[in-house]
Amino acid sequence: MKKKCSFCGAYENENVILIENDNKGVYICSECISFLDKILNENNSVSNNDEIKPVGNFKLNITPHEIHQKLSNYIIGQEYAKKVLSVAVYNHYKRIQNNLFNDSDVDIEKSNILLIGATGSGKTLFAKTLASILNVPFAIADATSLTQAGYVGEDVENVLLRLIQAADYDIELAQKGIIYIDEIDKLGRKGDNVSITRDVSGEGVQQALLKILEGTVANVPPGGGRKHPQQEFIPFDTTNVLFICGGSFEGINDVVNNRLFKSSIGFNNDGVNKLDEKDTYSKITHDDIKHFGLIPELVGRLPIIAPLEMLNKDDLVRILSEPKNAILKQYKKMFKMDSIDLEFDSEAIDAIATLAIEKRTGARGLRAIIENIMLEIMYNIPDEPNVEKCIITKDVVLYKKKPLLVRKKALA
Ligand code: ADP
Repeated sequence: MKKKCSFCGAYENENVILIENDNKGVYICSECISFLDKILNENNSVSNNDEIKPVGNFKLNITPHEIHQKLSNYIIGQEYAKKVLSVAVYNHYKRIQNNLFNDSDVDIEKSNILLIGATGSGKTLFAKTLASILNVPFAIADATSLTQAGYVGEDVENVLLRLIQAADYDIELAQKGIIYIDEIDKLGRKGDNVSITRDVSGEGVQQALLKILEGTVANVPPGGGRKHPQQEFIPFDTTNVLFICGGSFEGINDVVNNRLFKSSIGFNNDGVNKLDEKDTYSKITHDDIKHFGLIPELVGRLPIIAPLEMLNKDDLVRILSEPKNAILKQYKKMFKMDSIDLEFDSEAIDAIATLAIEKRTGARGLRAIIENIMLEIMYNIPDEPNVEKCIITKDVVLYKKKPLLVRKKALA
């Protein structure tokens, strides 16, 4: 039987050397070894560069500029949101530092963040990337799955449990983590499509969230699930947890337009002067959010609004290839494991971005589009003889034509 790498499946050839583990029939190829080596080196360099020590004697060794710069390694565009978040996160951890070390009588209040942007504009990516830059634990929750006590669904305390688990049950560390609550806007939707198992206005959940957002000592059931009186709880202080809430707030452009144009003579809400969706995000105020249906107390606990722009085609083209872990880089890496250079020509990249724009799913749709294009190719290419390069053209993207294959010259 032909020997192959137990990790990537590559067969031994003149470019791929296989190393066997102690005659056990388990092999690793030279490609996988250098890939692992690179990962290990990258991890080392991250921990060497990041001198942030989040545990115990919290020390903030990063400036807003540096946070912005690091965000830009992963996030394309969204410059305004990057600036707002860099400052907000910097201030948040400075506040923790102040409250921990400073015996001055001024306690700086917590400022949680509200991210507003269309689906796939990068809200989750922002929250996740910030947590990894700061090296603090991170958890995600979906507001629509949360319920107030007594209803079927998830208690807000379970979200805290997820953060504790992300910190490997180090409570002190978890208490300085970041929680991203997605779809916060759906709690404000009155009436339509709300599950009957939840309180209809979502107000009970908003009240429960309000408590943990403003800072409380919550009782977290260590095994998750619903609380019951006999259970032991983990007391968890949310005072220093940074909450980032996100939502698309679909339809809020009507609220903004009503506010902006209601009283102006010559403008009306259905008129040509109405701002369209992409222009309203940057104009959203806390009052608009209240009008949308979030309770004033909760809005008050989200003093920082960071609006994300709608991604245009050029942004999507950049997202495909520029970030550190860009999708196209990931595919290239996979092909490289079969010793094949994968290339997307610029028209193909353009066509993928255009398809994503048409689907209106922001950058979220990019992966599904590429998976769809690449499935057939990835299925067939390992059986194609002597391929050294695979070029994806516009015709492959749009008409499912075959990619251009460059084969190695037969050895004389
Ligand atoms: P949202 O939470 O706003 O719906 P996500 O953060 O889940 O969107 O984004 C979906 C995917 O699109 C992410 O996995 C990320 O790879 C990509 N993405 C979105 N926005 C950007 C951006 N500005 N830069 C780079 N990648 C992005």
